[in-house]
Amino acid sequence: QEDKFKKVIAHAKEYGYIFGSSEIYDGLSAVYDYGQNGAELKKNIRDYWWKSMVYMHQNIVGLDAAILMHPTTWKASGHVDAFNDPLIDNKDSKKRYRADVLIEDYAEKQYQKAQKEIVKAKKRFGEAFNEEEFIATNSRVVKYLDTQQSVLKRLASYLEDEDLDSVKVLIEELGIADPDTGSKNWTEVRQFNLMFGTKLGASADTAMDLYLRPETAQGIFVNFLNVQKTGRMKIPFGIAQTGKAFRNEIVARQFIFRMREFEQMEMQFFVRPGEEMKWYEYWKETRLNWHLSLGLGAENYRFHDHDKLAHYANAAADIEFNFPFGFKELEGIHSRTDFDLKAHEEHSGKKLQFFDPELKENYVPYVVETSVGLDRMFLSIFSTALQNEELADGSSRVVLKLPAVVAPVKAAILPLVKKDGLPEVAQKIVEELKWKFNVIYDEKDAIGRRYRRQDANGTPFCITVDHDTLNDESVTIRDRDTMEQKRVPIAALKSMISEKVDA
Ligand code: ATP
Repeated sequence: QEDKFKKVIAHAKEYGYIFGSSEIYDGLSAVYDYGQNGAELKKNIRDYWWKSMVYMHQNIVGLDAAILMHPTTWKASGHVDAFNDPLIDNKDSKKRYRADVLIEDYAEKQYQKAQKEIVKAKKRFGEAFNEEEFIATNSRVVKYLDTQQSVLKRLASYLEDEDLDSVKVLIEELGIADPDTGSKNWTEVRQFNLMFGTKLGASADTAMDLYLRPETAQGIFVNFLNVQKTGRMKIPFGIAQTGKAFRNEIVARQFIFRMREFEQMEMQFFVRPGEEMKWYEYWKETRLNWHLSLGLGAENYRFHDHDKLAHYANAAADIEFNFPFGFKELEGIHSRTDFDLKAHEEHSGKKLQFFDPELKENYVPYVVETSVGLDRMFLSIFSTALQNEELADGSSRVVLKLPAVVAPVKAAILPLVKKDGLPEVAQKIVEELKWKFNVIYDEKDAIGRRYRRQDANGTPFCITVDHDTLNDESVTIRDRDTMEQKRVPIAALKSMISEKVDA
């Protein structure tokens, strides 16, 4: 799996998806730049989310709030006092880790061990295998899963009580070692605030201390009434936003999974107090279905319902994805009560309430939020799409099976040879298709090599212009996944491509 992850990172660079930030200066850790293909893939994922949220729901509208916000925002939201990660240092290696992540990784390993046993047993018993019964009765599997659960429970409860000493005790009890050096010589655990500070204004004595936003949600909360009033929105309604967020993350070893500058896609749904659980269930299901619609395989997703909740929540779940390094959080769905709006009322002295015409009363709405990382979405899609495929003739190919709807380049137009007027016909097709799709022209190398290049690039279609095209106005269209080739009229290309790539 580690090997697979290395391949993902190398492929992302080789094909212009992701580069390290300011690489010529040796880079900046956990900061990345998206290249020509990456920028396009990211934009397509963002659009796919935006459409499903804003266009598909008559009662959800968009917002684009600023990254810089009045500093009291972060006092009200609790980030100044409580947006901390528990850190631990290894005394021998001098390396710093997030204590909670070390423990979560340990728990995940227990889960993986259980899965291995299940897979083995499945192979052994074949048809007769009853998975549920096996999990319940096999003592090894029971032990792994119990350990996983109990470790996570203890961690959550210590963190909630801010009992950092017990976190350290847990690390020692589990025998967790420095992942790089194997040393178990740990320091105490302590809290570290994740917000990036900056200054507004030039003069030293009047400059205001600000933070780069660590989440986009607060821009939505402070604009709640602006949007509600000007959009004449009635509860229930939602506000959706995508944008950059910044966190001074300490563990930054998982490529774009955990970045210091990243992008979130968040939606806050404002509901009547007392109706939040209904909407929480609705959004859990709706968001999972959105992920499934990308076709990466239902087995790669699972819910993780939180037993221990943050101070502002009365229900919370993660949608976890099977990343190359195991199941990890991809999206969070939280029932946040009226915590945020009330806190902003208190700190600003302004009312943030809704007059409900049916109930004929004013109230501070409750909020159900869905929050997904765009970069994590990118990683989930990219890492699953990258495959090494054995072909019938014994050869193999590297293919990036990106869902067509998000693929950066939808079609490559290829003249079979660089002469006889074929390039001109191919260019004409590019001119026609470019109004609707991102397409490219490629005439370099033999046709087989060009196909392979587009496979690795994730392009769903290759369109080849050959000598017959000059007479029959038809081309060959090749499907990336099946490698099937079909002869079709040039006039039919637009609708054929649309059928596969339109959302
Ligand atoms: P984690 O526990 O993995 O640090 P979190 O619970 O702090 O995540 P939230 O604050 O709920 O995350 O943020 C919502 C979403 O934003 C996450 O589900 C994730 O997809 C994304 N996200 C959070 N932090 C990062 C980061 N440092 N880099 C990339 N994406 C992130």
